[in-house]
Amino acid sequence: MIPVDLHSHTLMSQCGIHTHLEMLQAAREKGLAGLAITDHGPALKGRLPSPVFERLVQPVPGIRFIKGIEANVTDAEGTIDVPDWLLPLLDIVLLGLHVRFPLRRGSADWTDALIEAMRRNPWVDVITHPVDENFPLDLERLAKEAQGLGMAIELNNSKVLYQRTTTEEVARLLAICRDTGCKVAVCSDSHTVEEIGGDESVRPLLEASGIPGAQVVNASAGTAFAFIAARRAARLAHIRKHLGK
Ligand SMILES: [Zn+2]
Ligand SMILES: [Zn+2]
Repeated sequence: MIPVDLHSHTLMSQCGIHTHLEMLQAAREKGLAGLAITDHGPALKGRLPSPVFERLVQPVPGIRFIKGIEANVTDAEGTIDVPDWLLPLLDIVLLGLHVRFPLRRGSADWTDALIEAMRRNPWVDVITHPVDENFPLDLERLAKEAQGLGMAIELNNSKVLYQRTTTEEVARLLAICRDTGCKVAVCSDSHTVEEIGGDESVRPLLEASGIPGAQVVNASAGTAFAFIAARRAARLAHIRKHLGK
């Protein structure tokens, strides 16, 4: 079980089937210390959660409600679909490739667009499911970039559980993360209460990879909350400097 799950979806993503409160209650019953609710950005028909995030501070006692988003890269210039006004409300920002757009001439894969987005938005915290057959990536380049920016690469339980990738590909990703020293975040990407905290499909791969525990941002509740706090402080400083807020 993941102590603090950093990736989950509710009804507001349309692909999720529960409310925020149902997800948080289920996570508490499973013994998690925190759950990040990270519905999709608007480019993937996600509804922006500002009323929920503003009005529900910590609605379920005994579990930390971590307010997040799973943003999308929307063009080859590295634009992402998080409006500036939402940023101060967010504890964590995930970024992944979900929507297709024309790549720059000469690009063989999606790596250039994703790296462009990471550089333009250095306050992103976690890159989600980098092993996806629809969006082939140069994992070495991605891991080096993430390492340099202090971002974590996601180890996504659902993609293995539902066979959207292979264990061989995930093992290759983990070997690259180990060799580059890039941070890793273990996440369920849950769309139902059943899946919250689930890591059964990726935990053996992580243990076999030789990645030290200190490299896993949510190895414990303490390290997860410390990662979120440090990244959020850096994000707010960036917002003040560049957006004048
Ligand atoms: Zn995703
Ligand atoms: Zn997701």
